[in-house]
Parts: sequence; structure tokens; C-alpha cells
Amino acid sequence: MKKKRIYLDYASTTPVDPRVFDYMKKYFFQKFGNPMSLHSFGREADEAIETARKQAADFFGCEKDEIIFTSGATESNNLAVKGTAIADSLRTKGSPRPHIITTSIEHSCILSACQALADRGMAEITYLPVGSDGLVRAIDIEKSLKPNTLLVSIMYVNNEIGTIQPIREVGKIIEKANKNRDRKIIFHTDATQAISYLDCRIENLGVDLLSMSAHKIYGPKGIGCLFIKKGTPIKRIQDGGGQEFNFRSGTHNVPAIAGLGKALELVETERKKVYKMVEKLRDYMISRIMKEVSGVKLNGSKIKRSPNNANFAFKDVEGEGLLLGLDLEGVAVSTGSACSSGDLRPSHVLAAIGLSDEESHGSMRITLGKYTTKQEIEYFINALKNTVSRLRKIAGK
Ligand code: PMP
Repeated sequence: MKKKRIYLDYASTTPVDPRVFDYMKKYFFQKFGNPMSLHSFGREADEAIETARKQAADFFGCEKDEIIFTSGATESNNLAVKGTAIADSLRTKGSPRPHIITTSIEHSCILSACQALADRGMAEITYLPVGSDGLVRAIDIEKSLKPNTLLVSIMYVNNEIGTIQPIREVGKIIEKANKNRDRKIIFHTDATQAISYLDCRIENLGVDLLSMSAHKIYGPKGIGCLFIKKGTPIKRIQDGGGQEFNFRSGTHNVPAIAGLGKALELVETERKKVYKMVEKLRDYMISRIMKEVSGVKLNGSKIKRSPNNANFAFKDVEGEGLLLGLDLEGVAVSTGSACSSGDLRPSHVLAAIGLSDEESHGSMRITLGKYTTKQEIEYFINALKNTVSRLRKIAGK
């Protein structure tokens, strides 16, 4: 008999929705042209790109030419951070050096893009702390603003603990600060983990730049976009044939772009239903685990949290052991972000919310998605209870 497999790692990636895949297929076979070509093959590929751009623009409530397709959130985030710094240095000839404010719990691609600028002497960075709830205080942002502040980059939803940052509130602070400035502060959010569940309309967030990736929303991997509000000073970081309004050269990945557009359209029409379903299952799971497993604590805010995320610290258990034990039972979870698993250093996010190394090593992330069922959750809870008690017994606890 084939072994049961249960996927509870939707924050890492999602399967492609069959409707998205069906829609993409024709752009591999019949409509395979290069959208830059002038002939009919090129024109029909270009139509696919423009349809996807419209779907993205409708989703975010922006203009079509404010959407730049990239290879995913890593590239979008790099473009946001480095592209604004480059535009600034062209304007100021590097003096004063721009100041960037971000948080200590951003995804590694934001943290390392900021670090890369700092290492080259191209920016000074402030990493704001978060509370034990995993939330940044908007007031801390206000206090950290300097005359040379160029960019504020705050993620919308954290990929490890699911906490939802007060983006709208930060947007208002920046709007107010910008009233008295010649050099406007640019506001960026990494919304990669927010798209499936939260309001991402630009006018409600007050952002100038927003990053996302399709593979977190039942679209294909290797495709994403960056929203760039018209007039935002930002320069490309990749040179070439001038695609994407010269912000991102390279032949378009037409099937993937089409898939991204379709995936966004499906999120918009199904979001409310999926939100309720996932939240109910997640809350059921949390309450049973808190009741039935001893020595367990939920990491991050209980309230300001994405409906699909739970992250627990288990006393006297190694997270890696737990993950592998659950994998043997057919259940896929994560110990930190997928990008850093394999890396045995404690998670920078869990450290930032005040967990000790030991607590961090005993932590596990469970993320649900639109295909998660009650039966899967029941199976998981049983597998978890068995695995935790087996591991504690082995450890003599
Ligand atoms: N930002 C966040 C918040 C993420 O969760 C991820 C994916 N783990 C990324 C950025 C990077 O996305 P991608 O791998 O698609 O470039």
C-alpha cells in the first residue's frame, strides 16, 4: 500500500492549482513565441504577458505599467533594495550615504541585500527589533527616521511565525514624514506570505514598492513581480534587451507569467472562503496541540497572525529530530524557513522574538493551505503526539 503523505509546509511552497496549469499549457506548445517578436507568434505571447499584467494590476489596484515581472520575491526584493540605492547614488553622487530601515525578522534576501549595500559602503542600515509577539512597533520606525533615510522595508507577513506587521500604519507615518522632505522616503513591503490571505490593495497599504512570488499562491516557481509606484526613483539591477520597461531585461518566461496572473485572479475570487477554512483548521490544531502535548508554547502573536501559520516550541525535543520523525510518518513540516533549513544555526526570527537557542532548536513551523483537510490535521496531531513522546523517551526526558 502506498504510504500516506501529508503536506503541511505551504509557506515554503504550494502545489500548482490545476486550473493555473491548464491555463499555462498553451504557452509552452501553441503560443510559444517571444513577446518581443513582431510577428503573430510574438504578438500572441505579448498578449499573454499583458493579460497577466492586467490581472496583477487588478489584484493590487494599480496601473498595468506599475507591475514588473521578475523571477520571484528574491529578485523583487533585491531590485527594491539595490535599485533604490543605485538611483539615490546617481542623484547624490553617494553623499550623503542613504539610510535604510528594515527589521531583524525579514527574509534572508532582504537582510543580505541590505548587508551587501552596507559592505560596499553604499548604505547604512537600521535593523529594528520586534517584540516577543514578533511585531514591529510603528513608533520605532518614526523614531528611527533620519534626514538621509531613503527606504523603509518591512515585510507584511513573516514566513516563519506568520505575524502580520502594521503596514498601513507604517505607510501613514511615512506619508506624514514625507510632507516635510525633499528627499522622499520610499516604502517597500515584502508581501510574499500575505497574498493568499490579506488585503494587498496598494491604496490601503500606502506602499511604493511591493514584492511577491507565484509559487506561494498555487502558481509556478521562478516567477514573481515587483509593484513600482509611478515616479518612484529606482534603477534596474540587470541590463540587457530592455524588457519590463527596462527594469528587468531577459526573455519573458511567458507560461510562468501567465500562470502568475491566473493564480492571482483565483486568490482574489476564493480568498474569503479559503481564509475561513484554513483558519478554522489551524485554530483547531493549535488548541488540540496546546491541550494534548505537554511543554509546548506557540511562538509569535496569537492574534496578528496569518490564518495558515502555527509555530511551536517543544520542550526537550530537537526540531530536526521532530521533522525527520514526522517525515517518517509521511508528514511534511518545517523547522525554520526552507531556505535556511539544513543550516543548523538557530533561526534569526526566533532569536529576535527572544527564544533561547534551545527553544529555537525545539521549534517547528506548520503551515496549512487550501488543500488541507480535517483528516490530515487529525492524522498529523496523532503523529506529532507519538513522535514527541518517542523522542522525549529516547532523550530520557
Ligand atoms: N520573502 C518571503 C517572505 C518568503 O517567504 C520567500 C520564500 N521563502 C521569499 C521572500 C523568497 O521567494 P522566492 O524564493 O520565490 O524568491
